[in-house]
Amino acid sequence: MLALQGAMVAQGQGEGRVTVIEAFYMGLVAKLGCVVCRRFEPTGLPVEVHHVARGSGVRSDFAVAPLCVEHHRGQAGFHGMGERAFCRLYRPPGEAETGLLIWNAEDLARYLRAARVVA
Ligand SMILES: [Zn+2]
Ligand SMILES: [Zn+2]
Repeated sequence: MLALQGAMVAQGQGEGRVTVIEAFYMGLVAKLGCVVCRRFEPTGLPVEVHHVARGSGVRSDFAVAPLCVEHHRGQAGFHGMGERAFCRLYRPPGEAETGLLIWNAEDLARYLRAARVVA
């Protein structure tokens, strides 16, 4: 685990080093808060950065979504219950793991708008 701007970011297993811009993006995403907590009962737990489509070929530090410890690795979490059960329960867009990227984009847009980073 790598401490990044106050949030824990899961380190890849030997996929090469994280560049400055990748680290910046993952830190930014971690600031958004868990995408499931924002839409369901919040757990108040710290956030980790989940890599979408891990192990299925292309792995990118830009294909990530923030999940709290419970919604990431806990019994109510993606890795705890598995992709199928997770998507059936929380119904991200498309009822697929990639829907987490859409939730992340929504939350990032709201964050940047509130911060007035973008007009
Ligand atoms: Zn959560
Ligand atoms: Zn994960």
